[in-house]
Amino acid sequence: MSGAPVRRTPLPGVLVPAGRTIGAEERAAVLRVLDSAVLCSTFGGEARALEAEMESLYGRTAVACSSGTAALHLAVAAVGFDPGDEVITTPISDFGTVAPILAQNGVPVFADVDPLTGNLDPAAVEAAITSRTRAIIAVHLFGAAADVVALRAIADRHGLVLIEDCAQAWLGATTDGELLGTFGDIACFSLQQYKHITAGDGGLAITADPDLASRMRLFMDKGWDRSGGRVHLMLGLNYRMTELVAAVARAQLGKVAEVVKRRREAAAQLIAALGSGEELAGVALPSLVGHAFWLFPLIVDDNRPWAEGLTAEGVPASAGYLDRPLYANPVFSGPVYGTSRYPLEGREYPVGLCPNAEQLIDRTLVVLPWNEAYTESDVDDIARAIRKVHAGG
Ligand SMILES: *Cc1c(COP(=O)(O)O)cnc(C)c1O
Repeated sequence: MSGAPVRRTPLPGVLVPAGRTIGAEERAAVLRVLDSAVLCSTFGGEARALEAEMESLYGRTAVACSSGTAALHLAVAAVGFDPGDEVITTPISDFGTVAPILAQNGVPVFADVDPLTGNLDPAAVEAAITSRTRAIIAVHLFGAAADVVALRAIADRHGLVLIEDCAQAWLGATTDGELLGTFGDIACFSLQQYKHITAGDGGLAITADPDLASRMRLFMDKGWDRSGGRVHLMLGLNYRMTELVAAVARAQLGKVAEVVKRRREAAAQLIAALGSGEELAGVALPSLVGHAFWLFPLIVDDNRPWAEGLTAEGVPASAGYLDRPLYANPVFSGPVYGTSRYPLEGREYPVGLCPNAEQLIDRTLVVLPWNEAYTESDVDDIARAIRKVHAGG
Protein backbone atom coordinates (compact mmCIF):
# COMPACT_ATOMS: atom_id res chain seq x y z
CA MET A 1 0.00 0.00 0.00
CA SER A 2 1.38 3.41 -0.88
CA GLY A 3 0.86 7.04 0.02
CA ALA A 4 -0.95 8.61 2.94
CA PRO A 5 -3.69 6.59 4.62
CA VAL A 6 -7.18 7.31 3.32
CA ARG A 7 -8.42 8.11 6.80
CA ARG A 8 -6.62 9.76 9.70
CA THR A 9 -9.31 10.37 12.31
CA PRO A 10 -10.99 7.37 13.94
CA LEU A 11 -14.43 6.33 12.72
CA PRO A 12 -17.12 6.52 15.42
CA GLY A 13 -17.19 3.22 17.29
CA VAL A 14 -19.08 1.50 20.09
CA LEU A 15 -16.67 2.54 22.86
CA VAL A 16 -17.05 6.30 22.42
CA PRO A 17 -20.09 8.57 22.88
CA ALA A 18 -20.10 9.52 19.17
CA GLY A 19 -20.71 5.90 18.19
CA ARG A 20 -23.50 5.18 20.67
CA THR A 21 -26.98 6.66 21.05
CA ILE A 22 -26.68 7.29 24.80
CA GLY A 23 -28.17 10.69 25.59
CA ALA A 24 -30.63 12.68 27.64
CA GLU A 25 -33.27 9.91 27.65
CA GLU A 26 -30.87 7.35 29.14
CA ARG A 27 -29.57 9.87 31.68
CA ALA A 28 -33.15 10.67 32.78
CA ALA A 29 -33.96 6.95 32.93
CA VAL A 30 -31.07 6.20 35.28
CA LEU A 31 -31.95 9.13 37.55
CA ARG A 32 -35.62 8.09 37.61
CA VAL A 33 -34.63 4.68 38.93
CA LEU A 34 -32.09 6.01 41.42
CA ASP A 35 -34.60 8.50 42.76
CA SER A 36 -37.12 5.69 43.27
CA ALA A 37 -34.61 3.69 45.35
CA VAL A 38 -35.95 0.47 43.79
CA LEU A 39 -33.13 -1.04 41.77
CA CYS A 40 -34.30 -4.66 41.65
CA SER A 41 -36.84 -5.52 38.97
CA THR A 42 -38.81 -7.86 41.23
CA PHE A 43 -40.10 -4.76 43.02
CA GLY A 44 -40.02 -2.08 40.31
CA GLY A 45 -41.76 -1.41 37.02
CA GLU A 46 -38.94 -0.78 34.52
CA ALA A 47 -38.11 -4.35 33.45
CA ARG A 48 -41.80 -5.26 33.15
CA ALA A 49 -42.37 -2.09 31.08
CA LEU A 50 -39.40 -3.01 28.85
CA GLU A 51 -40.97 -6.43 28.29
CA ALA A 52 -44.27 -4.79 27.32
CA GLU A 53 -42.49 -2.47 24.88
CA MET A 54 -40.57 -5.38 23.35
CA GLU A 55 -43.91 -7.17 23.01
CA SER A 56 -45.36 -4.23 21.06
CA LEU A 57 -42.33 -4.23 18.78
CA TYR A 58 -42.29 -7.98 18.04
CA GLY A 59 -45.80 -9.17 18.86
CA ARG A 60 -44.39 -11.83 21.21
CA THR A 61 -44.27 -12.20 24.99
CA ALA A 62 -40.88 -10.96 26.22
CA VAL A 63 -38.76 -11.94 29.22
CA ALA A 64 -35.98 -9.55 30.24
CA CYS A 65 -32.75 -10.94 31.66
CA SER A 66 -29.14 -10.10 32.36
CA SER A 67 -27.46 -10.81 28.99
CA GLY A 68 -27.89 -12.28 25.54
CA THR A 69 -26.21 -15.44 26.83
CA ALA A 70 -28.72 -15.54 29.70
CA ALA A 71 -31.58 -15.12 27.17
CA LEU A 72 -30.25 -18.13 25.25
CA HIS A 73 -29.95 -20.04 28.52
CA LEU A 74 -33.61 -19.26 29.31
CA ALA A 75 -34.52 -20.51 25.84
CA VAL A 76 -32.56 -23.75 26.08
CA ALA A 77 -33.76 -24.42 29.64
CA ALA A 78 -37.37 -23.81 28.61
CA VAL A 79 -37.04 -26.45 25.89
CA GLY A 80 -36.42 -28.85 28.77
CA PHE A 81 -34.45 -31.53 26.96
CA ASP A 82 -32.76 -34.44 28.74
CA PRO A 83 -29.05 -34.52 29.58
CA GLY A 84 -27.11 -35.77 26.56
CA ASP A 85 -29.69 -34.55 24.04
CA GLU A 86 -28.38 -32.66 21.03
CA VAL A 87 -28.85 -29.12 19.81
CA ILE A 88 -27.76 -28.25 16.28
CA THR A 89 -26.15 -24.88 15.78
CA THR A 90 -23.56 -22.89 13.85
CA PRO A 91 -19.78 -22.86 14.35
CA ILE A 92 -19.66 -19.11 13.59
CA SER A 93 -21.16 -17.13 16.44
CA ASP A 94 -20.47 -15.64 19.83
CA PHE A 95 -19.69 -18.31 22.45
CA GLY A 96 -22.93 -17.24 24.14
CA THR A 97 -24.80 -19.27 21.53
CA VAL A 98 -23.33 -22.58 22.70
CA ALA A 99 -22.46 -22.10 26.39
CA PRO A 100 -26.14 -22.47 27.43
CA ILE A 101 -26.42 -25.82 25.63
CA LEU A 102 -23.51 -27.19 27.68
CA ALA A 103 -24.84 -25.54 30.84
CA GLN A 104 -28.03 -27.59 30.38
CA ASN A 105 -25.93 -30.75 29.85
CA GLY A 106 -26.79 -30.78 26.17
CA VAL A 107 -24.45 -31.62 23.29
CA PRO A 108 -23.80 -28.91 20.71
CA VAL A 109 -23.77 -30.40 17.20
CA PHE A 110 -22.28 -28.10 14.59
CA ALA A 111 -23.68 -27.91 11.07
CA ASP A 112 -21.79 -26.16 8.29
CA VAL A 113 -22.68 -22.74 6.91
CA ASP A 114 -23.19 -21.04 3.58
CA PRO A 115 -19.75 -20.04 2.20
CA LEU A 116 -20.87 -16.46 1.43
CA THR A 117 -23.17 -15.46 4.30
CA GLY A 118 -21.79 -17.65 7.08
CA ASN A 119 -25.36 -18.57 8.02
CA LEU A 120 -26.46 -22.17 8.69
CA ASP A 121 -26.94 -24.32 5.60
CA PRO A 122 -30.38 -25.92 6.04
CA ALA A 123 -29.28 -29.09 4.21
CA ALA A 124 -26.36 -29.50 6.62
CA VAL A 125 -28.72 -28.97 9.55
CA GLU A 126 -31.10 -31.64 8.33
CA ALA A 127 -28.23 -34.07 7.73
CA ALA A 128 -27.08 -33.58 11.36
CA ILE A 129 -30.42 -34.58 12.91
CA THR A 130 -30.38 -37.77 15.01
CA SER A 131 -32.82 -39.41 17.42
CA ARG A 132 -31.28 -37.25 20.20
CA THR A 133 -31.78 -33.90 18.45
CA ARG A 134 -34.18 -31.60 20.31
CA ALA A 135 -33.55 -28.09 19.00
CA ILE A 136 -31.87 -25.90 16.41
CA ILE A 137 -30.29 -22.56 17.27
CA ALA A 138 -29.96 -20.36 14.18
CA VAL A 139 -27.88 -17.18 14.31
CA HIS A 140 -28.57 -14.28 11.96
CA LEU A 141 -24.90 -13.56 11.45
CA PHE A 142 -23.90 -9.88 11.30
CA GLY A 143 -27.62 -9.05 10.87
CA ALA A 144 -28.32 -11.06 7.70
CA ALA A 145 -31.23 -13.48 7.81
CA ALA A 146 -30.43 -17.16 8.20
CA ASP A 147 -32.76 -19.24 6.02
CA VAL A 148 -35.45 -19.34 8.69
CA VAL A 149 -38.17 -20.42 6.28
CA ALA A 150 -36.26 -23.62 5.48
CA LEU A 151 -35.15 -24.09 9.09
CA ARG A 152 -38.73 -23.66 10.35
CA ALA A 153 -39.89 -26.33 7.90
CA ILE A 154 -37.10 -28.70 9.01
CA ALA A 155 -37.89 -28.12 12.68
CA ASP A 156 -41.58 -28.81 12.07
CA ARG A 157 -40.87 -31.92 10.02
CA HIS A 158 -38.71 -33.41 12.79
CA GLY A 159 -40.55 -32.08 15.85
CA LEU A 160 -37.70 -29.80 16.95
CA VAL A 161 -37.72 -26.45 18.71
CA LEU A 162 -36.28 -23.58 16.64
CA ILE A 163 -34.46 -20.84 18.53
CA GLU A 164 -33.38 -17.69 16.69
CA ASP A 165 -30.32 -15.91 18.04
CA CYS A 166 -31.09 -12.31 17.03
CA ALA A 167 -28.28 -10.73 19.07
CA GLN A 168 -26.80 -9.29 15.85
CA ALA A 169 -30.08 -8.81 14.03
CA TRP A 170 -32.26 -6.27 15.79
CA LEU A 171 -35.15 -5.55 13.37
CA GLY A 172 -33.56 -7.68 10.66
CA ALA A 173 -35.91 -9.17 8.08
CA THR A 174 -36.12 -11.87 5.45
CA THR A 175 -36.13 -10.99 1.75
CA ASP A 176 -39.94 -11.06 2.03
CA GLY A 177 -39.78 -8.39 4.71
CA GLU A 178 -40.78 -10.66 7.59
CA LEU A 179 -39.25 -9.78 10.94
CA LEU A 180 -36.43 -12.02 12.19
CA GLY A 181 -37.32 -13.34 15.63
CA THR A 182 -40.85 -14.31 14.58
CA PHE A 183 -39.97 -17.66 12.96
CA GLY A 184 -38.50 -19.38 15.98
CA ASP A 185 -40.40 -20.81 18.93
CA ILE A 186 -38.13 -18.48 20.88
CA ALA A 187 -35.86 -15.63 19.78
CA CYS A 188 -33.07 -14.06 21.83
CA PHE A 189 -31.61 -10.55 21.82
CA SER A 190 -28.62 -8.88 23.47
CA LEU A 191 -28.09 -5.39 24.88
CA GLN A 192 -24.32 -5.78 25.31
CA GLN A 193 -22.07 -2.80 24.58
CA TYR A 194 -21.30 -3.78 20.96
CA LYS A 195 -24.86 -4.46 19.81
CA HIS A 196 -27.19 -2.11 17.89
CA ILE A 197 -28.55 -0.77 21.18
CA THR A 198 -27.04 -1.24 24.60
CA ALA A 199 -27.52 -1.03 28.33
CA GLY A 200 -24.00 -2.34 28.97
CA ASP A 201 -25.26 -5.89 29.33
CA GLY A 202 -28.78 -7.22 29.12
CA GLY A 203 -30.95 -9.65 27.20
CA LEU A 204 -34.48 -10.33 26.03
CA ALA A 205 -36.11 -13.59 25.01
CA ILE A 206 -39.41 -13.57 23.12
CA THR A 207 -41.97 -16.26 22.33
CA ALA A 208 -45.58 -16.67 21.25
CA ASP A 209 -45.93 -19.84 23.38
CA PRO A 210 -47.29 -19.19 26.90
CA ASP A 211 -45.69 -22.37 28.32
CA LEU A 212 -42.25 -21.46 27.00
CA ALA A 213 -42.75 -17.92 28.30
CA SER A 214 -43.63 -19.13 31.76
CA ARG A 215 -40.71 -21.59 31.91
CA MET A 216 -38.32 -18.85 30.77
CA ARG A 217 -39.66 -16.48 33.42
CA LEU A 218 -39.26 -19.15 36.10
CA PHE A 219 -35.73 -20.04 34.97
CA MET A 220 -34.82 -16.33 35.03
CA ASP A 221 -35.88 -16.08 38.70
CA LYS A 222 -34.73 -19.23 40.56
CA GLY A 223 -37.76 -21.21 39.47
CA TRP A 224 -39.79 -19.08 41.87
CA ASP A 225 -43.30 -18.31 40.65
CA ARG A 226 -43.77 -15.47 43.15
CA SER A 227 -47.54 -15.93 43.25
CA GLY A 228 -47.32 -17.13 46.83
CA GLY A 229 -44.75 -18.39 49.28
CA ARG A 230 -41.23 -19.51 48.49
CA VAL A 231 -42.00 -22.36 46.17
CA HIS A 232 -39.46 -23.27 43.48
CA LEU A 233 -41.24 -24.99 40.61
CA MET A 234 -38.15 -25.84 38.59
CA LEU A 235 -34.40 -25.37 38.56
CA GLY A 236 -33.64 -21.74 37.86
CA LEU A 237 -30.89 -19.18 38.33
CA ASN A 238 -30.90 -15.48 39.05
CA TYR A 239 -30.77 -13.93 35.58
CA ARG A 240 -32.94 -10.92 36.51
CA MET A 241 -32.34 -7.65 34.69
CA THR A 242 -31.84 -4.76 37.11
CA GLU A 243 -34.09 -1.70 37.03
CA LEU A 244 -31.17 0.55 36.05
CA VAL A 245 -30.43 -1.62 33.03
CA ALA A 246 -34.10 -1.92 32.12
CA ALA A 247 -34.65 1.83 32.25
CA VAL A 248 -31.68 2.45 29.94
CA ALA A 249 -32.81 -0.39 27.68
CA ARG A 250 -36.27 1.19 27.36
CA ALA A 251 -34.73 4.44 26.15
CA GLN A 252 -32.51 2.49 23.75
CA LEU A 253 -35.38 0.37 22.44
CA GLY A 254 -37.10 3.61 21.46
CA LYS A 255 -34.12 4.34 19.21
CA VAL A 256 -33.53 0.93 17.64
CA ALA A 257 -35.61 1.55 14.51
CA GLU A 258 -33.64 4.69 13.70
CA VAL A 259 -30.33 2.95 14.47
CA VAL A 260 -31.11 0.12 12.06
CA LYS A 261 -32.40 2.53 9.41
CA ARG A 262 -29.22 4.63 9.60
CA ARG A 263 -26.99 1.55 9.43
CA ARG A 264 -28.87 0.35 6.36
CA GLU A 265 -28.56 3.74 4.67
CA ALA A 266 -24.83 3.83 5.28
CA ALA A 267 -24.46 0.26 3.99
CA ALA A 268 -26.51 1.10 0.89
CA GLN A 269 -24.23 4.05 0.25
CA LEU A 270 -21.14 1.86 0.53
CA ILE A 271 -22.55 -0.82 -1.75
CA ALA A 272 -23.54 1.81 -4.33
CA ALA A 273 -20.11 3.45 -4.10
CA LEU A 274 -18.33 0.15 -4.65
CA GLY A 275 -20.42 -0.77 -7.67
CA SER A 276 -20.63 -4.39 -8.64
CA GLY A 277 -18.93 -7.10 -10.65
CA GLU A 278 -16.04 -5.93 -12.84
CA GLU A 279 -15.03 -2.99 -10.71
CA LEU A 280 -14.36 -4.98 -7.57
CA ALA A 281 -13.53 -8.38 -9.03
CA GLY A 282 -13.08 -11.14 -6.48
CA VAL A 283 -15.00 -9.35 -3.72
CA ALA A 284 -18.54 -10.31 -2.65
CA LEU A 285 -20.63 -7.73 -0.84
CA PRO A 286 -23.61 -8.50 1.42
CA SER A 287 -27.15 -8.29 0.13
CA LEU A 288 -28.96 -5.19 1.40
CA VAL A 289 -32.43 -6.65 1.68
CA GLY A 290 -33.50 -7.06 5.29
CA HIS A 291 -29.91 -6.84 6.59
CA ALA A 292 -29.57 -5.20 10.01
CA PHE A 293 -25.85 -4.44 9.49
CA TRP A 294 -24.41 -5.18 12.88
CA LEU A 295 -21.11 -5.54 11.03
CA PHE A 296 -20.39 -5.13 7.32
CA PRO A 297 -18.92 -8.37 5.91
CA LEU A 298 -16.78 -8.66 2.76
CA ILE A 299 -15.87 -11.95 1.14
CA VAL A 300 -12.40 -11.85 -0.44
CA ASP A 301 -9.80 -14.38 -1.52
CA ASP A 302 -7.22 -13.64 1.16
CA ASN A 303 -8.65 -12.06 4.31
CA ARG A 304 -5.53 -11.35 6.37
CA PRO A 305 -3.79 -8.99 3.92
CA TRP A 306 -7.15 -7.35 3.29
CA ALA A 307 -7.76 -6.71 6.99
CA GLU A 308 -4.22 -5.42 7.48
CA GLY A 309 -4.46 -3.23 4.38
CA LEU A 310 -7.76 -1.67 5.40
CA THR A 311 -6.59 -1.11 8.95
CA ALA A 312 -3.44 0.59 7.64
CA GLU A 313 -5.71 2.88 5.61
CA GLY A 314 -7.45 3.97 8.82
CA VAL A 315 -10.48 1.72 8.31
CA PRO A 316 -10.24 -0.95 11.01
CA ALA A 317 -11.16 -4.38 9.73
CA SER A 318 -10.73 -7.87 11.09
CA ALA A 319 -10.11 -11.14 9.35
CA GLY A 320 -12.47 -14.02 10.00
CA TYR A 321 -14.58 -12.48 12.82
CA LEU A 322 -13.50 -15.39 15.07
CA ASP A 323 -10.03 -16.81 15.69
CA ARG A 324 -11.43 -20.29 15.18
CA PRO A 325 -14.80 -22.00 14.79
CA LEU A 326 -16.64 -22.41 18.10
CA TYR A 327 -15.93 -26.15 18.13
CA ALA A 328 -12.15 -25.55 18.06
CA ASN A 329 -12.26 -23.89 21.49
CA PRO A 330 -10.59 -25.86 24.33
CA VAL A 331 -13.89 -26.67 26.07
CA PHE A 332 -14.77 -28.98 23.18
CA SER A 333 -11.61 -31.06 23.55
CA GLY A 334 -10.98 -30.91 27.30
CA PRO A 335 -12.99 -31.21 30.49
CA VAL A 336 -16.38 -29.48 30.70
CA TYR A 337 -17.23 -29.96 34.40
CA GLY A 338 -14.36 -30.47 36.85
CA THR A 339 -12.23 -33.18 35.30
CA SER A 340 -15.20 -34.67 33.46
CA ARG A 341 -15.92 -34.39 29.75
CA TYR A 342 -19.63 -34.95 30.43
CA PRO A 343 -21.78 -34.53 28.34
CA LEU A 344 -19.21 -34.66 25.55
CA GLU A 345 -17.62 -38.06 26.27
CA GLY A 346 -16.90 -39.84 23.02
CA ARG A 347 -17.65 -36.68 21.02
CA GLU A 348 -15.02 -35.28 18.72
CA TYR A 349 -14.88 -31.88 17.09
CA PRO A 350 -11.97 -32.28 14.64
CA VAL A 351 -10.49 -29.72 12.30
CA GLY A 352 -12.40 -30.04 9.03
CA LEU A 353 -15.76 -30.60 10.76
CA CYS A 354 -17.33 -27.61 8.98
CA PRO A 355 -15.13 -26.75 5.97
CA ASN A 356 -17.11 -23.72 4.81
CA ALA A 357 -16.95 -22.16 8.27
CA GLU A 358 -13.21 -22.85 8.47
CA GLN A 359 -12.67 -21.32 5.04
CA LEU A 360 -14.55 -18.16 6.02
CA ILE A 361 -12.57 -17.74 9.23
CA ASP A 362 -9.16 -18.71 7.83
CA ARG A 363 -9.29 -17.27 4.33
CA THR A 364 -12.30 -15.38 3.00
CA LEU A 365 -14.19 -13.31 5.58
CA VAL A 366 -13.34 -9.71 6.47
CA VAL A 367 -15.61 -7.72 8.77
CA LEU A 368 -15.83 -3.97 9.14
CA PRO A 369 -17.30 -2.46 12.29
CA TRP A 370 -20.52 -0.68 11.30
CA ASN A 371 -22.21 2.27 12.95
CA GLU A 372 -25.34 4.40 12.75
CA ALA A 373 -23.22 7.52 13.18
CA TYR A 374 -21.27 7.06 9.93
CA THR A 375 -21.63 10.17 7.77
CA GLU A 376 -21.56 10.23 3.98
CA SER A 377 -17.96 11.29 4.11
CA ASP A 378 -17.10 8.45 6.53
CA VAL A 379 -18.62 5.97 4.09
CA ASP A 380 -16.75 7.63 1.20
CA ASP A 381 -13.52 7.05 3.10
CA ILE A 382 -14.41 3.40 3.69
CA ALA A 383 -15.19 2.96 -0.02
CA ARG A 384 -11.91 4.62 -1.02
CA ALA A 385 -9.95 2.41 1.38
CA ILE A 386 -11.60 -0.72 -0.03
CA ARG A 387 -10.81 0.35 -3.61
CA LYS A 388 -7.24 1.16 -2.72
CA VAL A 389 -6.63 -2.18 -1.00
CA HIS A 390 -8.31 -3.96 -3.91
CA ALA A 391 -6.12 -2.16 -6.43
CA GLY A 392 -2.95 -2.91 -4.48
CA GLY A 393 -3.82 -6.53 -3.77
C1 LIG B 1 -23.42 -10.97 21.57
C2 LIG B 1 -23.95 -12.27 21.14
C3 LIG B 1 -24.39 -13.22 22.07
C4 LIG B 1 -24.22 -13.09 23.54
O1 LIG B 1 -24.78 -11.93 24.06
P1 LIG B 1 -24.19 -11.33 25.44
O2 LIG B 1 -25.18 -10.25 25.76
O3 LIG B 1 -22.82 -10.82 25.14
O4 LIG B 1 -24.20 -12.42 26.45
C5 LIG B 1 -24.96 -14.39 21.59
N1 LIG B 1 -25.07 -14.61 20.27
C6 LIG B 1 -24.65 -13.72 19.36
C7 LIG B 1 -24.84 -14.03 17.91
C8 LIG B 1 -24.06 -12.53 19.76
O5 LIG B 1 -23.62 -11.66 18.84
